[in-house]
Amino acid sequence: MTPRHNEIVVIGGGAVGIACALWLRRDGHQVTLIEPNALAAECSFGNASTLAEYGCTPIANASVWGRLPSLLFSQDSPFVVRWSRIPQLMPWLLRFLGQCNTHAAKTNTHRLLRLLERTYSGYEPLLEASPEAAALIRRRGCLYAYTTEQGMQAGRAEIALRESLGIEQEVLNANQVADLEPVMAGQNVGGVLFPRSCHIRNTQQFFQNLAAPLQGSIKRARVQRVVPQDHGVAVSCDDGSTLLADRVVLAAGAWSAQLAASFGERIPLGVERGFHVEFDLEEELLTRPTCPVESAFYMTPLEGGRLRAAGTVELASMRDPINLRRTNYIEERVRQILHLEQPASRRWMGFRPTLPDCVPVLGPSRQDPRVLYAFGHQHLGITLAGATGQLIADCIHGRAPQWLDEYSASRFT
Ligand SMILES: Cc1cc2nc3c(=O)[nH]c(=O)nc-3n(C[C@H](O)[C@H](O)[C@H](O)COP(=O)(O)OP(=O)(O)OC[C@H]3O[C@@H](n4cnc5c(N)ncnc54)[C@H](O)[C@@H]3O)c2cc1C
Repeated sequence: MTPRHNEIVVIGGGAVGIACALWLRRDGHQVTLIEPNALAAECSFGNASTLAEYGCTPIANASVWGRLPSLLFSQDSPFVVRWSRIPQLMPWLLRFLGQCNTHAAKTNTHRLLRLLERTYSGYEPLLEASPEAAALIRRRGCLYAYTTEQGMQAGRAEIALRESLGIEQEVLNANQVADLEPVMAGQNVGGVLFPRSCHIRNTQQFFQNLAAPLQGSIKRARVQRVVPQDHGVAVSCDDGSTLLADRVVLAAGAWSAQLAASFGERIPLGVERGFHVEFDLEEELLTRPTCPVESAFYMTPLEGGRLRAAGTVELASMRDPINLRRTNYIEERVRQILHLEQPASRRWMGFRPTLPDCVPVLGPSRQDPRVLYAFGHQHLGITLAGATGQLIADCIHGRAPQWLDEYSASRFT
């Protein structure tokens, strides 16, 4: 059977794939989005829902060395490694540790910042076309609340760094934190408000609303292989079909590296497992995402009285079952901080796609420039999806900024 010809195929219907497909459609391209499940049902479903345009400090930084013992030996620290998986994780871990120094962190911070500066411009035109999605955004800033003097002290270097980079932030004392979020009274020693940040009251619904113009252009299937050929790039799916495309955008989140490997490109994409617990509340306890910094999760008020506490990191295999010790840790901390008696109603685990330098891979593949990469957004995929879609569309039109070359996968060779 002759494969159907397509102009652009986007693989993956998470935040990033949806935004790429929308930007390409705006540029007048014929786009097919391939996704086996509901849209935004994986990592783009269960995150902390913040547009964290201030989040330029990569988790790969020099402070990791001081935290290495707790990372390796405490199962209750916010960042843990599953010991039995260390042999498998070692190649990624070694590359990651290679980025944990001042020089590399500075480069990576600047690379993230350049993308973060495009957070809102990357979404604006998409939101103009979808008032339903825009209605799910709440603009109240995000709050960091330090719960210990030691934590506040450790946070000062990052506060100074953001200051030097011109990121808008207001440093607060304990009373000012409590004025913003009364439930945090007595629970903090100070904090930082990021006034430009927003949050989304329901991320899956938000991306599904944004994706409405793609109706009729979505194929429900799992891509098995991507094979560049003379007359196009062949995309084979698990339903037996093959699509031939002029260009392919690979935006399959944590699953992207295995598809890149199907046409011979090895990219050191790792997975940071993250968790959430949700409480169904009678009354809203917080009005904005609030992060008790030392615990490494956000507590975000969502639509329908839900409070979601999302965050922490576990390095393990995607195949390992959910680690309930992680969700119990988050649940207990939230109940303590918010004086909640009720148990959590739901628990979830998702896979953040993370490169060792914490910078996404964006732009043409080295193997074949007709395949473009858009993955590896680690803790920032909701924030950066719009900006990524815009850059990928710019790339296809030959109007991408020169600096986009720094985001190529070739930086790992
Ligand atoms: C606990 C937690 C909290 C977070 N909080 C925030 C936050 O507050 N702000 C923020 O900006 N980011 C946050 N993130 C990160 C953010 O959620 C991710 O970076 C983002 O969702 C990644 O989007 P994506 O589209 O790349 O991947 P995904 O959402 O995982 O989408 C990838 C899609 O590809 C599809 N796919 C996979 N394989 C194939 C295949 N073979 N063929 C076709 N399709 C395929 C999958 O089904 C999936 O739908 C958080 C993450 C976690 C885990």
